[in-house]
Parts: sequence; C-alpha cells; structure tokens
Amino acid sequence: MRPLLASIDLSAIRHNYQLARQQGGGRKAFAVIKANAYGHGAREVVSALPEADGFAVAFLGEAGEVRGLHMLARVLLLQGCFEPAEFRMAAQMELDVVVQGPEQAEMLLATRLVKPLRIWLKLDTGMHRLGFTRDNLRDWYQRLHAAPQVAELNLMSHFACADEPEHPLHTRQLGEFDTFADLTFAHRSLANSAAILATPQSHHDWLRPGIMLYGASPFASRSAVELGLQPAMTLSGALVSVREVPAGDSVGYGATWSATAPTRIGTISCGYADGYPRCAPPGTPVLVGGRRVPLVGRVSMDMLTVDLSQVPEAVVGTPVELWGRAISVDEVASHCGTIGYELLTRVTARVKRHHHY
Ligand SMILES: *Cc1c(COP(=O)(O)O)cnc(C)c1O
Repeated sequence: MRPLLASIDLSAIRHNYQLARQQGGGRKAFAVIKANAYGHGAREVVSALPEADGFAVAFLGEAGEVRGLHMLARVLLLQGCFEPAEFRMAAQMELDVVVQGPEQAEMLLATRLVKPLRIWLKLDTGMHRLGFTRDNLRDWYQRLHAAPQVAELNLMSHFACADEPEHPLHTRQLGEFDTFADLTFAHRSLANSAAILATPQSHHDWLRPGIMLYGASPFASRSAVELGLQPAMTLSGALVSVREVPAGDSVGYGATWSATAPTRIGTISCGYADGYPRCAPPGTPVLVGGRRVPLVGRVSMDMLTVDLSQVPEAVVGTPVELWGRAISVDEVASHCGTIGYELLTRVTARVKRHHHY
C-alpha cells in the first residue's frame, strides 16, 4: 500500500474546542466544520464533539450530515440560503440561518415555512463581502422581528483583520458592531479563532472557532504550540526511493534544482494531487527519520524529493512527516506564501484518512 496517510487526532480537536470555549470566557461555541471540517472529515469531527453547543457550515449541502449525527446541536448556515426551497429545508432541519442581505431577507419573507427559523442577521462592519449596511440594518431588524418566518433574531458579523488586533479596521469593526447595542437580539456572535484568542471584547454570546479547532494558528507571529493548541492532522509517509545524484545533476521536472556536491536524494510519494503545494520552494522542511531536511526540486503530481545529506541512515521505508507535530502546517504554509487553512482544506480525497483518539 502506498505510504501516505493523513492521520487525524480527534482528542486534539476535543482539546482545542475546550480551549476555545475557555479562552472565550465560557461562551457557547459553534465548531466551524465547513469544507469537510477544514479537511479533517466533518462526520468524524462532529461525532468527536458530542458536547458541542453548535456547528457552523458554509451552506445547506454541508448541513445535512451534521443534523443526522447530532439532533440537538444548533447548526448554523454561514452563507444562508440561495433559493426558497433551501429555506424550507432549513426549517425542516431546524437550522440556524444567516441572512446576509436584503435579497435573502426578501426571499425569506416570501417563503412559507413549516416552522419558523432562528435567523442571524449579518452586519457588514467593514469586511465588505456580505451583510446589511449600517443604514439598512435597523429597517430589516423591524421587518424580520415581526415576520412569522422568524422564531429568534440574532446578530452576527465577521472580522477582516482579527489576526492583527492592532489594525485600525479591527477596532472600527468592533465599534460598528456595538453601534447596535440598543436593539434586542437573542444572541450576538462576532469572534472567529483569532478574535477568541486576542479580542475578548468581541466574545459576546456565541464564539465561532474554526482553524484553532484543528490546531493551526490564526496568527502569522504566534505558533499553535505557543497558543496551547494541539495539531490534529499529521500528513505522513515514507521514503519510496533513495539515490545518489552527482554534483551538477538536476532533480525533478524542469531541472530547476541542481546538486552542488554529490547528494543523496530521497523520494516521497506525496505530490500536488494529494494537496501538497506545487509552489513549495526548495528548503521547505520535511521530517525524515525524525530529522528536518530540505525539499529540493519541483513538487510533482504524485511525488516530491528531499535532500538526505543530514540523514545518512535514511533508506527506503524511513518514516516521513510532511506536516504534523514536528513541522507545523503553518510553517509549511509560510514557505509557500499561504496559510495553514489552505493546506489543510486542500488535502485531496485520494489521501487515506485515519481517525483516532
Ligand atoms: C470560516 C468562518 C469562521 C471561522 O474562522 P477561523 O478563522 O477559521 O476561526 C468564523 N466565522 C465565519 C463567518 C466564517 O466564515
């Protein structure tokens, strides 16, 4: 069998969920499990969190499985409904639904539901992707408060710079949200992972931790370990080939990297079709036999290559970690000019996942 495995530590996710609640002053928390729980398997993550207050997904298609596994938890649709039939299904499934603008609100008011919905009005505090504006929120608050489709009216918004709590926009968004303190909402929700950890004023009633559940850091400057998070995913494999390459010879597609001295090269069966980024430059760390070695040459579809000079004992079969506890996904991501979120969500279906406690 091909030596490549994404092993998922569900105890780590449980630990991180508790840490999110604790850092969030004991508020209730929607575990954000959109995008197949950031690549970790939504079904398994939901099953591992029976005590969760709620779960959040991006859209209706991601909600069905969650409701099937957890009859009591609140399940929040972060992007709301895209057509009337989705509002009807959401009502049947007793979901919490974000209404992110006038068009969705009109659609809701024009739809007959089997029972009223818990609605989260989204306020655009400055991200400028979704949400009611400061000027139209009050009108819609009045209309939805009175609507037979609405069982409970809540307020939410989302930060653009929560990972930079000193950023002026962050402060502005906090202020915008509090502008509506006089309105009566059942619950308010503003904080994602970064805000849970760095902006206590944003905690309100419901937290929305995503990335921190999976043990990656929302901050460029603070590691997951420093934050007390436990990485949930280990992407591991083994060397499938080892060879000596003479000085001057190149390795891999495009001959973009050449050995300056005779070099032992190890090949790992993991490539961009598995979700390891093709843009990873030479020098990106890989753990081989417990030691960090540099990636060399281009990442190809099914394989990548490393320089084994520092691990002379490495042979075919020597264990490899692409990311996990020894090398964080955040560190690999920063070499690639991206964030841990992207690498975790991009691990493809052909990578075997193994869940354990
Ligand atoms: C994805 C998402 C979150 C979770 O964000 P993290 O940075 O992963 O904690 C919270 N709220 C909304 C609206 C989201 O889309």
